Amino acid sequence: MDKILLDMHTHSSHSPDAEDSAAAMCERAAELGLTAYALTDHCDVNFWEKAPTPETIDAMMYGSGSYALASIAEQTQLRDKYSGRLDLIIGIELGQPLQNMEKAELITDDPRLDFIIGSHHMNAGVDDFYYLDYSKMSPAELDRLLENCFTQTLEMCRWGRFDVLGHLTYPLRYICGEYGIPVDTDRYHDIICEIFSTLISKGKGIEINTSGLRQKYGMTFPTFELVKLYRQLGGEILTIGSDAHRVPDLGKGIAEGIELAKAAGFDKVAYFKKHEPHFLKL
Ligand SMILES: [Zn+2]
Ligand SMILES: [Zn+2]
Repeated sequence: MDKILLDMHTHSSHSPDAEDSAAAMCERAAELGLTAYALTDHCDVNFWEKAPTPETIDAMMYGSGSYALASIAEQTQLRDKYSGRLDLIIGIELGQPLQNMEKAELITDDPRLDFIIGSHHMNAGVDDFYYLDYSKMSPAELDRLLENCFTQTLEMCRWGRFDVLGHLTYPLRYICGEYGIPVDTDRYHDIICEIFSTLISKGKGIEINTSGLRQKYGMTFPTFELVKLYRQLGGEILTIGSDAHRVPDLGKGIAEGIELAKAAGFDKVAYFKKHEPHFLKL
C-alpha cells in the first residue's frame, strides 16, 4: 500500500456540515502518520454574521465567522498539544471572499493561519451549488451558471489572497454526479486556462480534491485532464486533500491523487507553512 503523505483539506465539527471534533481528526491524522496535515474548516464569508432562522435553518454555513474563529483558536491549541506526534498545519477554507471582502481580509490577515484554500461554493446572489435543482434548468441556463461560476472563480484568483484554489469544477459534483447531466468542460477551456495562468503568475497553486472519488461523480476535482493542463501551463504548486468531513474519510483517495499527480507530470506535491509552499517528493 502506498504510504499516505499528506491530507491538505479536511473539516472538523467547527464546520457546520462536518461531524467529528478537531481533536478526533488530529488523533486520526497522527495515527496515519501524515507528513503534512491541515484542518481547513469552512469560512463562507458571505454568511459571516447571519444566524439561521426557521426558514433558513437548512443553509449550512450561516454564522461562518464564529465557526471559523473558533476553529482557528482550537487548532492553535491542538498544534501545541500534538507537537512531536503531528505537525498540524493551521488552515481555513475561505469561501466567496469577494462577496464580503472586509471579513475575508480579516481572515487572510490572521497571523495564526498557515494555509488558506480559496473556494467558490456559490455564485453571487445564488444558493450553494449543493442546493440548486438542475433538473429544472435548460442547457442554456446551466451553461450560464457554469460560465458565471468560472468567471467569479477567475475574479477570486485575480484577488489572490489565498494559497491554493479549492476543488475547481465543484458544481459538477451535483450536475454530473447527482443529476447525471453530462458537462463538457472543453466549453470552458479558455477561462480555465486564464484561471490557471493567473494562479501561476501569482505563485498560487491548485488542489486535487479527492472527495469526488467517493461520491457519485467518481472523479477528482478537477479531473486528471485539467490537472495535466495546469502542469502544461507551468503549474508547480499542487496540494492533495480528501475534503473529509468525518474521521473515516481522512486520507481517503490520497494514494489515487498522488498517482494522478505523477501521471499529470508532477514529481512533488506541496504543503504550506505560514503561506510558504514546501514540497514532498513523489
Ligand atoms: Zn469546499
Ligand atoms: Zn472543504
